[in-house]
Amino acid sequence: MAQTFEIAVFQGDGIGPEITGPTVDILRRMSDASSAYDLKFTDAPAGAAHYAKTGESFPAESMKIAKRADAILLSAMGLPDVRYPDGTEISPQIDLRKALTLFAGVRPVTVKAGQRTPLNMPDGKEIDFVLIRESTEGLFYTQGKGEVTPDEARETLLITREISEKLFKFTFELAANRKKAGRGPGKVTCVDKANVFRAFAFFREMFDAEAAKHPDLTSDHAYVDATALWMVQKPWDFDVMVTENMFGDILSDLGAGLMGGLGLAPSADIGLEHAVFQPCHGSAPDIAGQGVANPFAMILSAAMMLDWLGIDHNNPALIADAKRLRESVEDVVAQANVLTRDLGGNAGTIEAANAVLDTLFVA
Ligand code: NAD
Repeated sequence: MAQTFEIAVFQGDGIGPEITGPTVDILRRMSDASSAYDLKFTDAPAGAAHYAKTGESFPAESMKIAKRADAILLSAMGLPDVRYPDGTEISPQIDLRKALTLFAGVRPVTVKAGQRTPLNMPDGKEIDFVLIRESTEGLFYTQGKGEVTPDEARETLLITREISEKLFKFTFELAANRKKAGRGPGKVTCVDKANVFRAFAFFREMFDAEAAKHPDLTSDHAYVDATALWMVQKPWDFDVMVTENMFGDILSDLGAGLMGGLGLAPSADIGLEHAVFQPCHGSAPDIAGQGVANPFAMILSAAMMLDWLGIDHNNPALIADAKRLRESVEDVVAQANVLTRDLGGNAGTIEAANAVLDTLFVA
């Protein structure tokens, strides 16, 4: 019998609705074709445009839908011209991360043969690693609450045992699942600055304690500065990396750069009970309404969602469809016949999404 999953959908702002529509259409087609799972979608209004219209940025009902759902699919929220009276932007995606304790920011970085990248890739090499960014503490702990006097400014970095132990357990499980799926050797790298800061020695100690529980996986450590260098010089050597919030914030954009830009960078924010899947990019107001936004990062995020649901609910058909969806996007990108402007082509959003559908169902 088919397992049923409720997906909360935040269409968001700017290009959000333009890339959400075709992504949900693809998921519906896959769900309709499967006897092993059934996806039901519920719209959850929130964001800057909603705030401008109603005075409310994140209605309680939308939070209720998010909490009740089995997974949350989100495009991007926020518009630079729409702000709260204190001057800050509307960002319900950050409210969600805090409210649902989504401590693991998962940022896959892949460059397949044929894909444009600023690197000179040696023949036969491909990039396929995952960066996990702790997303609730670290140097973001005092976000918005830092102390500033005329003479100094102070922010606090917080690393807790409670979150770190969950983070490392999640990381090693993810590495084990990747190894099982034939996607990596099962190697986890702790990225820190333990040579200088005691907080990172503490971080590393907890990482090593978790590593000791996984004799089937290997682990090592790297300083964050060297990691930035190696991500450019030999990114194919990485499998799974885990790091603090601010380090992860910076390294994940470097990862997106390796992939040729934000248009191909998916992400997930995962906690113990909830998970949000969304592209790394924002609402791109400069191209909104033109039908030219790249839907691939959103579709790849949807593939991550299927994989997470499949693993969490022991549903092999979902895991297989996640792989099929990811590979369909990779095929379209590698063939380079139907690409949006940001990837050097001239296809529109719908045309690009249809190329993925054709690869999924016709090829
Ligand atoms: P952005 O990612 O929206 O845009 C940066 C550049 O990349 C723009 O030139 C844009 O046209 C291009 N771009 C982004 N996504 C694209 C896509 N799918 N296809 C083609 N081109 C794409 O970043 P920004 O301009 O700094 O932010 C715009 C708004 O989005 C702001 O209000 C910001 O706060 C918000 N934002 C939201 C999120 C989120 O919801 N997670 C993340 C980042 C920014």
